[in-house]
Amino acid sequence: MNRKDFLRSTLGTAMALTGMDTLAKNAGITGAPELSAPPAFTLPPLPYANSALEPHIDMLTMEIHHDRHHKAYVDNLNKEIDGKPLAKLTIEAILKDVSKHPVAVRNNGGGHYNHTFFWKHLSPSMSDRASGPVADAIDKAFGTELAFREAFAKAATARFGSGWVWLIVDKSKKLVISSTPNQDNPLMDVAEVKGIPVLGLDVWEHAYYLKYQNKRPDYVRAYWNVVNWNEVNKNYEAAMKG
Ligand code: MN
Repeated sequence: MNRKDFLRSTLGTAMALTGMDTLAKNAGITGAPELSAPPAFTLPPLPYANSALEPHIDMLTMEIHHDRHHKAYVDNLNKEIDGKPLAKLTIEAILKDVSKHPVAVRNNGGGHYNHTFFWKHLSPSMSDRASGPVADAIDKAFGTELAFREAFAKAATARFGSGWVWLIVDKSKKLVISSTPNQDNPLMDVAEVKGIPVLGLDVWEHAYYLKYQNKRPDYVRAYWNVVNWNEVNKNYEAAMKG
């Protein structure tokens, strides 16, 4: 490798690592080195600081959860679909027929979708109660918001091992609580209860162990302090249209 090639390769790696290659391309910078195509899926940045959900979800948990766990799902998904027709599909399209794909696509594709969904509907501005159309729909489906929270907590506690608890809009446009093992979700053809997620809680130990240890119910209670009901209403309205 001559000096020019070495520089190009080193710079390319550094730029790829920092995401600068995409920035350079978007900005129309033509002097940027030629690099391979960007990966199919990318780790979305958290829409708030790692510390923003304190004290309910601690900074170190957020950092490890996003920067390492979610990143690993993205990296492993990209590795699995590299060069295959799957790489051209949206994550939703992949999950819809996930039973036809390798189990690594189910685990890592689910992991990528679930975590992207999760970060987006959390919020540093704490709103104690549900609001908007989804609040009315929750009252209608479960009697009261408290009854809904109790049923949700029960499903979270009953999920043995790792998984997720969801509020979904099912095929008949009803709000239903469901839970899925591992990184499965209600969009998947393999899900016992199918539907479109409105809110969803990660109950893997990696989501709460540093602060809550084995006390999953305390973590579930804390979750309600950081739910972004504006986002949940957007999810609800999209699900009702979908
Ligand atoms: Mn997780």
